[in-house]
Amino acid sequence: MASIFTKIINGEIPCYKIAEDENFFAFLDINPNAKGHTLCVPKKEVDRIMDLDEETYLGLMAFSRKVGKAIEASINCNRVGITVIGLEVPHVHVHLIPLNEMKEATFQHKVAPAKEEFMAIADKIRSKIE
Ligand code: 5GP
Repeated sequence: MASIFTKIINGEIPCYKIAEDENFFAFLDINPNAKGHTLCVPKKEVDRIMDLDEETYLGLMAFSRKVGKAIEASINCNRVGITVIGLEVPHVHVHLIPLNEMKEATFQHKVAPAKEEFMAIADKIRSKIE
């Protein structure tokens, strides 16, 4: 069965999209640790990051760097942190989390932007993608 992220990539489930290329897709996390928390996923559906072929792994990191730089340029944060977990959704994804405090890296601290704010955040990040 297709993962929830494959359904997002295919447009079957809505998302606040940030960026897309031939192999990768970025969108806002629906339950963010901080405003601007973004997920970068390979279109190829693989569960564990260590099972990615090297080219896809390196491509995902390069794509995540591009998106992360746009987050740092648009969201008020000290820096963007990178985390890979995958215990909830079995489709590789890189968490890009704008960090000001350690608690934002813990996944115990959540924020809940309204729909309009999610849209505004996505617009701001998209505008800085190079
Ligand atoms: P992990 O698998 O790394 O533990 O976490 C999965 C992440 O995906 C969580 O941060 C969760 O909020 C996010 N997530 C789960 N389902 C959806 C969804 O349908 N849409 C979006 N945008 N994010 C989701």
